[in-house]
Amino acid sequence: MKKQNRLLSLILSLFLLLFTLVPQSALTVKAEGNSEMAVHFIDVGQGNAILVQSGGQNLLYDGGDQSHADLIISYLQEQNVENIDYMIASHYDEDHIGGLVPCIDNFSVSNIFGPDYVHTSNLFNNFMNTATANAIIVQYPSVGETFDFGTGSFTVLAPNGISQNSNDNSLVIKLENGSNSFIFTGDAEETSEQDMISTGMNLDCDVLSVGHHGSANSTTWDFLEATSPSYAVISCGINNQYNHPSADTMGRLSDMGIPVFRTDKQGTIIAVSDGTNISWSQEPCNDYSSGDSSVNASAGGTGGNSRQEETTTSDPVPEQEESNNADLGTMVWIPATGEKYHSIPNCGRMNPDTARQVSRSEAEAMGYGPCSKCY
Ligand SMILES: [Zn+2]
Ligand SMILES: [Zn+2]
Repeated sequence: MKKQNRLLSLILSLFLLLFTLVPQSALTVKAEGNSEMAVHFIDVGQGNAILVQSGGQNLLYDGGDQSHADLIISYLQEQNVENIDYMIASHYDEDHIGGLVPCIDNFSVSNIFGPDYVHTSNLFNNFMNTATANAIIVQYPSVGETFDFGTGSFTVLAPNGISQNSNDNSLVIKLENGSNSFIFTGDAEETSEQDMISTGMNLDCDVLSVGHHGSANSTTWDFLEATSPSYAVISCGINNQYNHPSADTMGRLSDMGIPVFRTDKQGTIIAVSDGTNISWSQEPCNDYSSGDSSVNASAGGTGGNSRQEETTTSDPVPEQEESNNADLGTMVWIPATGEKYHSIPNCGRMNPDTARQVSRSEAEAMGYGPCSKCY
């Protein structure tokens, strides 16, 4: 008995010693408060991987491709992950589950969630077999199901059905902590976005993890208006072969004035929610350039536009000024949400269904600026 007590106190004092010796790391943002939830958008190049930590629990949404498996494992170890309470495979494309397979072997995993379809690839078979070998059954949660996680919860928003397009099978979740919310879309595209809107679920969120690495087929006007995020995060690789993110998607985000974070420009990005506010490990880069360098070269961006305006206003020819003033009476199109006015309702940077016409001077008085694409 005495021996046991001595051993117990020895362990206790060792534990206390360790606790006081371990320095508070200044480099990592951790959810240490009672109601905190940390969301790590891990830079896995062209792929997706999000780690969420809250209340001692861990959720891993996608794990990047196979070439980033070692990075994911060491990143999770640095965050003291031993058990993954929820491992979620958005869908079974390589850039999402490649890094998950070794995580099943390297950590204890309580639950694996994924969409209910069969992907014809060795990697998919490997993923399923590794789960089975670790006595884990891959579960297929239904739309609307909610699961407690840490100090909050997450709800399944998609897929509403299984299609031939594996991206549209993405298991989309809305993660909530107090009044803060995040939506992780995987590679969901337009069809899935429309399905989510049709269900009538509350899609409003603070942070949108932009679908399919910013591809043009995702993040439609309708979905952006339904989610109305305060921040968008894009996970994509530098100079990736798909030219992600697309000029169309970046134009929509820019026109709606949504601040943007990008892993290709900023590396790993961490958001910490305290249930009321969200703080970030860095400022949004607000770099709305596309991954297609040929588009970037011709688009010119807002810098080119302001230069044009400067030359127009300093132009001594009075007719120019007159025509500019007359221009203010012409009708333009303004979006339901967004900061730009357009010469046509369907230039691609505004939802034409909810656009309305006002005079240009009215639009400018309301604070709208000209669209860089159609004006
Ligand atoms: Zn992908
Ligand atoms: Zn995909």
